[in-house]
Formats: sequence, C-alpha cells, structure tokens
Amino acid sequence: MTIETLIPVAYLIAAITFILGLKGLSSPTTAVQGNRIAAGGMLIAVIATFFAADVKGGVPIILAGIAVGGVAGFAGARMVKMTAMPQMVALFNGAGGGAAALVAILEFARNVDAGSLEFGPTLATLLALIIGAVSFSGSAVAFGKLQGLITPKAFRYSSQQLVTGGIAAATLLLSLVLLASAFFGAVNVPAMFLIALITLLALAFGIALVMPIGGADMPVVISLLNAYTGLAVAMAGFTLNNQLLIVAGTLVGASGTILTRLMSKAMNRSLGNVLFGAFGAATTASGAAASAGLEGRSIRSIGPEDAAILLSYAQNVIVVPGYGLAVAQAQHSVRELADLLESKGISVKYAIHPVAGRMPGHMNVLLAEANVPYDKLFDMDQINPEFQRADVALVIGANDVTNPAARSNPGSPIYGMPILDVDKAQNIIVIKRSMKPGFAGIDNDLYLDPKTAMLFGDAKEAVGKVVQELKKAA
Ligand code: NAP
Repeated sequence: MTIETLIPVAYLIAAITFILGLKGLSSPTTAVQGNRIAAGGMLIAVIATFFAADVKGGVPIILAGIAVGGVAGFAGARMVKMTAMPQMVALFNGAGGGAAALVAILEFARNVDAGSLEFGPTLATLLALIIGAVSFSGSAVAFGKLQGLITPKAFRYSSQQLVTGGIAAATLLLSLVLLASAFFGAVNVPAMFLIALITLLALAFGIALVMPIGGADMPVVISLLNAYTGLAVAMAGFTLNNQLLIVAGTLVGASGTILTRLMSKAMNRSLGNVLFGAFGAATTASGAAASAGLEGRSIRSIGPEDAAILLSYAQNVIVVPGYGLAVAQAQHSVRELADLLESKGISVKYAIHPVAGRMPGHMNVLLAEANVPYDKLFDMDQINPEFQRADVALVIGANDVTNPAARSNPGSPIYGMPILDVDKAQNIIVIKRSMKPGFAGIDNDLYLDPKTAMLFGDAKEAVGKVVQELKKAA
C-alpha cells in the first residue's frame, strides 16, 4: 500500500469535517468551532493532495501560491472592518470562481494538446469555465459597487436585455460547437480559439448580469455568485477527477442557494426581482423624496437624560439593533447599557431580524464580539409576540426592519417584508443620526408614532451618554 492510496481516505475525512463545520455554523454558539473543524479538514485535504502522483512536480509553485494567498487572505480578514465584510466575501468568492475557470482553461489546453477532446470531460470543463468566469467578473463588479469604485446605482440602457441575451446566446452557441466537435471527434475546429472566445463572453456576461443591479442588492447577488462558484468548483472536480472538489463545491453551491433564498424571502422579494427588478435604482431615486416626506411632520425628540429615565422605569426592554449599530461600532456600549439595566433588575432582550445590517448574521456577529450572551438574542418569530409586553423598545441604528409600512402600506417597496413589531411596544426610543431613510430609501412612520421618542446622534455616542446618565442616577 502506497501513501497515495490513502489520499481518498484523507479526502473522505475532510468531506466529513466540511459537513460538521457547516452544521456548526448553523448556531452562534458552535460557529467558531465549526469553522475550525472545517479549516482543519481543509488542511488535511491540502496536505494529502501533495502526495498525489500528478502534483509532486508542482509542489514549489503550489507552496508559493499558498504563501501568497494565505498572507493576503489572513491580512485581509484581519484588517477588514465588519461593515466591509460583504465586499471582502465578494473578493474571495471571485477568486474561487476565477480559480475554477483557470483550472478549466489549463485542462482544455492539456486535452487539446493531447488531441483528446472527449464529450463528458469537455462538458464538465466547459461548465467550470463558464460558471467560474461569470462568478469572477460578477463578483468583481459587486466588489466595485460595494467599495464605491463603481457607481452603486443600477446601470441600465435601452437595449440592455438584447445585449445580455445576445452574450448568453453567443456563449451557448460556441459551447455547442465545441461540444459537438468533442462528441463527433472532429479535430479541425480551432478549439483553443473557441475557448478564448467563450471565456471572454462569460466574463462579459458576469458584468452584464451584475451591472444593472443596485448596490443595495449586492449582498443577495454575492450569495448567488457564491453558489455559482460552488458549482464551478464542483465541475472543476469532475474535470480533475477530484472527489473532494466535487463534494466541497456541491456543499458551497447548495448552501449558497439556500442562503440566497432565505435572504430574498426575508426581504419579501423573489430572486427574479432582485436580479431584474432594479430595487436599488428605484430606492436611490426615492430616497430624497422619502426623507422630504417626513420633514415638517411632528416628531418627538429627546435627550440622553430622558432616555435614561424612561429606561430605568422599565421592567422589560427589547433592544433592536440594525445597520447603524454596526457603522457606529456601538456593540460594546450597548452591552454596557444592558449590563447596567440588568443590574437594576430590568430584563433586556435583543430582537434579531434576519436581514438587519448588510449581511446574514451581521447583528449576531457584532453582539457576539461584545460577549452578549446568545440566550439573550431572539429571532423575529420568537420576539415579535413579546413587543406588546415590552415597556421600552430601544431601536439602535435599525430602520427598514422596524417599518410598519411593510405590514400596512401595499404601495411600499418593502410591503410584505416580515418586520419586528416594534410599534407594539409601550414606548419606543429610536437612536439614529437624522431623519434620513435606511437601505430601502423610504419613510418610516414609526418615527411619527406618538409612542416614539427620537434620540438623535451617533449610536455609540448616544448609547454612551445614556450609560453616563444611568450611572449618575445610580
Ligand atoms: P437600515 O434600514 O439600512 O437603516 C440603518 C439606519 O442606521 C439608517 O436609517 C441610519 O440613519 C442609521 N445609522 C447609520 N449610521 C449610524 C450611526 N453611526 N449611528 C446611528 N445610526 C446610524 O438598516 P436595518 O434596519 O438594519 O435594515 C437592513 C436593510 O438592509 C434592510 O432593508 C435589508 O433588506 C437590507 N439588506 C440586508 C441584507 C442582510 O443580509 N442583512 C442584505 C441585503 C440588504 P441615519 O443616517 O439617520 O443615522
């Protein structure tokens, strides 16, 4: 028995760790451990791959690649701010898709050189190439939009559908020519020329697909592209005859698809609407109008002292965190506030909306960073019935996820989106900097509710001031 015969065993162990890792990621309490288990499995798989006969010659270049990628990935992940995480994911995801496409090109080059274009492998390699290239260029555009390098507005022009459809049709046609030549064993097609054209068209298709989508919808798009990358990697697995790539790619493809579905559902939008509905474009335009709509209407503004009094007389407080809490990095101040209230015998719970913030689990990660106990975090369905018993709902940098228009106004872009029933609380304190709208660019009638008091300011500073007031009163 050679060491090479043990490679499939190592791959099997790695595949099991990936599944255990994903299972661990399904709960905040086990997420870190799950991540470590899967990373350990990946390490086993990489080490095992070094012993494969066809890899041995390339060890130095692979090590160089691991060093460059490892350092860039480690430094990037360490330095990136939590609010910039979606674009970081876009970047990493694009790298995965691009890698699958490069593997496909090299495999084509090898097979064309050897004069052996067979139908089955050609189909798998072609899919790895096309899906990988679409994911690469699409992710690059998503990154550019989120990073502000490209305008985040939905980019539209009159013959857009024709152009995008034309690119897709041309890609399909050239792919069929390549597949037919592989099927009939015809050798006189310029295969590498066709592959170069297909690559360019797939890259163009990725750009054409993502450019018309508003920056606001990018997290959903990234999740979808993530699923594409998984598929591309699985296809590259077929090409290279590597079972682990097939398993890992399929897991990524499936989980990316499920996540995309969950995000669309939590925003009450179909995937088709995200891809072709230009929500971002509409909302950017309506943003100004929406904020103008609230101007001049009566709102109640309070200071930190009043907020502290209201909170200290409460028995049940529900904290509703949102994107603004992430921007302000107010999680530690919020934890301090909750500790203070709890020391006075006040119950404090956190209401977590599935799409609060800008990426799935955004609020969970932030609050975990401040060591907020997991058992104080409640999902929307669990916490909604409790709002009517809450003396104070403390909304910190959340907007759309609290907007009652989602329940009551059929004309609203977020109509039908499940929301946190903040308006049912006895008193509501909203901390934000201004009357400006949130992500969806629309008014929030919650701010006009007589039960609502607005505490204007940066979330971290405002919560800090409330903490000071509470301490003074103690
Ligand atoms: P939101 O509706 O975007 O509102 C965030 C609010 O935070 C803003 O109104 C802003 O008001 C305030 N804010 C910003 N910086 C602040 C600061 N430094 N201090 C205090 N407040 C600050 O956020 P959300 O309620 O969390 O809703 C999330 C939205 O993102 C939803 O529409 C959801 O559909 C969308 N989305 C989420 C995901 C996801 O995966 N989580 C993905 C795609 C889209 P001021 O400017 O007045 O301060």
